[in-house]
Amino acid sequence: MVFTTASGKKLVTVIPGDGIGPECVNAAVRIIEATGAPIEWEERHAGERVFKEGLASGVRPDTMESIAKTRVVLKGPLGTPVGYGEKSANVTLRKLYETYANIRPARELPGVPTPYSGRGIDLVVIRENIEDLYAGIEHMQTPGVAQCLKLISRKGCEKIVRFAFEFARAEGRSSVVAATKSNIMKMTEGMLKRVHEEVAKEYPDIEAWHLIIDNTAHQLVKKPEQFDVIVTTNMNGDIISDLSSALIGGLGFAPSANIGNDVAIFEAVHGSAPKYAGKNVINPTAVILSAVMMLRHLGEFEAAALIENAVLVTLEEGKKMPRDVVGDERMATTTEYTDEIIRNLGRKPANWKVRDYKPIKLPEVTKDPVMVRPQQRRLAGVDIFVESPLPTEELGRSIEDLARGTKLHLKMISNRGTKVYPAMGAITDSVDHWRCRFLANEGASIGDSDVLDLITKVGAKHRWMHIEKLEEIDGEPGWTKAQGED
Ligand code: NAP
Repeated sequence: MVFTTASGKKLVTVIPGDGIGPECVNAAVRIIEATGAPIEWEERHAGERVFKEGLASGVRPDTMESIAKTRVVLKGPLGTPVGYGEKSANVTLRKLYETYANIRPARELPGVPTPYSGRGIDLVVIRENIEDLYAGIEHMQTPGVAQCLKLISRKGCEKIVRFAFEFARAEGRSSVVAATKSNIMKMTEGMLKRVHEEVAKEYPDIEAWHLIIDNTAHQLVKKPEQFDVIVTTNMNGDIISDLSSALIGGLGFAPSANIGNDVAIFEAVHGSAPKYAGKNVINPTAVILSAVMMLRHLGEFEAAALIENAVLVTLEEGKKMPRDVVGDERMATTTEYTDEIIRNLGRKPANWKVRDYKPIKLPEVTKDPVMVRPQQRRLAGVDIFVESPLPTEELGRSIEDLARGTKLHLKMISNRGTKVYPAMGAITDSVDHWRCRFLANEGASIGDSDVLDLITKVGAKHRWMHIEKLEEIDGEPGWTKAQGED
């Protein structure tokens, strides 16, 4: 949905951002205006200056009103000044508008020498943008042990995986690789792997395979040209997309888009690089290529190709090159480089071709918060996490005694995921954070009151800070075992 102004132009919210942001965004706006594309801008603010005005979110209400209207944002990087608010305004913007798909293309560029030049790198990392450790749910469970929840939903996986396949189709790409750590995190990372396997069957024209994320990093450095589209969870995607940017010349050339079903935000991967702010020396290509992605999102395919071709011509000819490619001595200023791109509008590079693009069909995923409705669920036990300075054996015997007379029994205790009680020979350096796993006694049917009874008994003697119910869902255990647990 695009907002069209009275003069028939498409309205875009533009956020200049902090540090080098205004220079980069200004370059992109000037180039778009030079193409004559029917775009009108509504300038709004977020980031440092807004934090300093006293708004802890870093996003002004009139910025949110503008985005709610235009649904499309071109933004410069935003800084999070120390001492003003604790959440990044970038992450806030991505999350406020459920922009669940972060697209980060990495394509070899002419005139930008790298150790990979000539190998034809042309890949796209599609990173889930909302969930995972970035849900930001953190707690100090004991004064010395912190926890961050890794939340992955079936709905989130379906959205990002379907998006990745639709994106591959729109760009005429041939493969979608899922990169996960499912070998270790079978339920969270494993969910993305399973959904990828299922959804891939609906796209027989696209090759699909799975790679463990650490091997993906290794393969990206060793043979990056083998990749087309990589779909992955938030944290993995954060890391491998920066790695991918480095393969094609660094942050000055790495564009990105954050796409949701309602709002899309286009920005460079890089930050506000404050030391270069206002010096007219930075490379604006990443924001310019982000603006190209924005034009395609708005259906302005012709203007997008015009700009992408002009960037390629400029780099291929190398008459005016940014500082991060040719160094201080031979660099063109940001303005000179931008002027050169504008001069090259209408030309095509000699040896490079711009892809043919089609609109991306955004996947339709239910608005219903419940996506999985099992036939059966059964409460099988509970993990009670306790803080204790006691030695393992003493703690184990105490907890075992406390469970006697309840409908549950202690199955084992683990310390940071490794079973330590009953002892099985593990040599661990334990901390004061123990997971005590209780299962229902043979033949007993348990409910919440039995769990509460157990917590009360354990809590009378030990400090507990967290519990997790153990549920069987359609006969399958909804929990994983500790290392060493049978
Ligand atoms: P950064 O701003 O990306 O800068 C790191 C380095 O990357 C720069 O010193 C420079 O390297 C190079 N670089 C970045 N952009 C460039 C460009 N356009 N042209 C040429 N070189 C470029 O990362 P940071 O210093 O870690 O972060 C600074 C601030 O930005 C922080 O407040 C951070 O929170 C914020 N940030 C915002 C976003 C966002 O808005 N999406 C993303 C990341 C960071 P050399 O020093 O080698 O020249």
